[in-house]
Amino acid sequence: MLKDSDRIFQNIYGFKGSGLKTAKSIGDWKNTKKYIAKGRDWIVDEIKNSGLRGRGGAGFSTGMKWSFMPKETGGRPVYLTINADEGEPGTCKDREILRNEPHKLIEGALLAAAAVGACAAYIYVRGEFFREGEVLQRAIDEAYAAGLIGKNSCGSGIDFDVHMQMGAGAYICGEESALIESLEGKPGQPRLKPPFPANVGLYGCPTTVNNVESIAVVPTILRRGAKWFSSFGRENNLGTKLFCISGHVNNPCIVEETMGITMRDLIDTHAGGVRGGWDNLLAVIPGGASVPMMPKNLCEEAIMDYDGLREHGSGLGTGAVMVMDRSTDLIKAIARLSKFYAHESCGQCTPCREGTGWMSRMMERMVTGDMAIDEIDMLQDVTKQIEGHTICALGDAAAWPIQGLIRHFRPEIERRINDRASRLSGQAA
Ligand code: SF4
Repeated sequence: MLKDSDRIFQNIYGFKGSGLKTAKSIGDWKNTKKYIAKGRDWIVDEIKNSGLRGRGGAGFSTGMKWSFMPKETGGRPVYLTINADEGEPGTCKDREILRNEPHKLIEGALLAAAAVGACAAYIYVRGEFFREGEVLQRAIDEAYAAGLIGKNSCGSGIDFDVHMQMGAGAYICGEESALIESLEGKPGQPRLKPPFPANVGLYGCPTTVNNVESIAVVPTILRRGAKWFSSFGRENNLGTKLFCISGHVNNPCIVEETMGITMRDLIDTHAGGVRGGWDNLLAVIPGGASVPMMPKNLCEEAIMDYDGLREHGSGLGTGAVMVMDRSTDLIKAIARLSKFYAHESCGQCTPCREGTGWMSRMMERMVTGDMAIDEIDMLQDVTKQIEGHTICALGDAAAWPIQGLIRHFRPEIERRINDRASRLSGQAA
């Protein structure tokens, strides 16, 4: 279990307030100028060596991503955009950073900007996070007033601006290129890639897009060192991570833990265990709504990191652990997620636009057993036609939960279909 002194987020529950005074009292903004002075290559190398992987779901090396940013831009400005459009069902970690530790994010933005040569950061906040946006804006204002950002930020010689932009409620704006489109004032629809944002991003300029948590941990990693951060977890899955545990647990919570903790330890230690005891567990969605669920027998020993969950056919995603006990109608739960993805499809590509609707309608029928047994395979086939055939990952996100349901709970689906058929034949007789 992670020691309190090793937690990066010392105020994640907001007990101490969110202002600059509090931030400084827990170590934020300490010697920021010194780390900027070490130069962009040093910052990039340190983050690479720390093993930090993007905490927004994709899990790509943050330092590597920064190293792709061009040093010669032909006079074009470079931008950092921070993805605070946290809309994945079950995920609520960035929200806590925004409302309780906003200065970690702003300081991280300055250091990330120094690493990629950015002159400004745009923080794109989910539209529903109105109060969090207010807190963040207050923190930005405080940082400007204290000379921490703006002209000659922290006395470093760097001019760096931070802008906050509220979204309007579309889930797809959490996709990096849709977020950029939305920032530019256009409908939030993902772009075809290439070109990638590192070359042609916001306003046609080199841009790096990072998740809130990925940026907020940067100052502490630089202060305590890459070696310290990489001492947690196991190879390729290093560091600490915010987990959001929700659903049928006794104490739903957000907690920072070391990567590689077992799922059972995470749930038992921090969330008070499964409601009714571990044996009452039915399944867990371990990484936000878009990853396949895992039945109880796989949860027992599951390791909460990228490789550990992939071994079980699921994924770490955003670290949002949704626990479902035996009272859960799993088919109904997945049908609800399918409806969500069908609603949020931006409609640009046919497999997603049409397929998410088909899947949602089939799932709705599956809830009542109103389908033929061979339609299960047909549904599986539709998910395969969508997966990997779309512009952005929403197609995959819509397909995977259904695949997980069919893979692990096919007998339950068949039982429901057969029950309905026998009921109807009984009525007819
Ligand atoms: Fe839009 Fe869906 Fe295609 Fe993504 S996969 S671009 S959300 S239609």
